[in-house]
Amino acid sequence: MSTPIGHSLAGVSVYFLSGRRFSSPGWKALFFCIVVACLPDIDFLPGFFVGNFNYFHHKGTHSLFFALAVSLGVWFVSRKSGGVKWGLLTFILVLSHLAVDYIAIDRTAPFGIQLLWPFSGKYFYFKYAFLPDVWRESSVVSVFNRHNLRTVIVELAVFLPIALLSVILRSVATKNLYRFFPFVSRKGQNDTGLRK
Ligand SMILES: [Zn+2]
Repeated sequence: MSTPIGHSLAGVSVYFLSGRRFSSPGWKALFFCIVVACLPDIDFLPGFFVGNFNYFHHKGTHSLFFALAVSLGVWFVSRKSGGVKWGLLTFILVLSHLAVDYIAIDRTAPFGIQLLWPFSGKYFYFKYAFLPDVWRESSVVSVFNRHNLRTVIVELAVFLPIALLSVILRSVATKNLYRFFPFVSRKGQNDTGLRK
């Protein structure tokens, strides 16, 4: 698994790369992207009731089924205001979470994620996982250690440049490209590409 830092930065990247089509208006959408990119780790919560916050981790909420179910829920709620776009954005964000967890080393059993839940209980674990793992035992306090601080630093080193690149790409697409491709300009949008 990765920390919320890595997942949040992946959400920020999705927000900027998705462009005007999927992410308007502005800060609320950015906040939405960060929350949804971290959403599958909500499976830590029921673990508190059984005295081990890892107990339900990497199961149902780390599956394609969950991604689809949440996306359909978001589509339904927002169906009168661009529901398909929000549903699709949600699906991509949850997928980003699964992808980041998939490429992260996992040393806490069960190893990997239940990608095909509820149709299969198999855990999928990437053979060449390279992102550092998060050391954790049954208590929340156990995650605050030097190893996990190093994990956060590596995640910042990997995901921050990607997030910054996505900001630059969006900036280029919404400012400079207007000069060359005037047809991409849309009414009601300022230079940042976000609606006023
Ligand atoms: Zn996760």
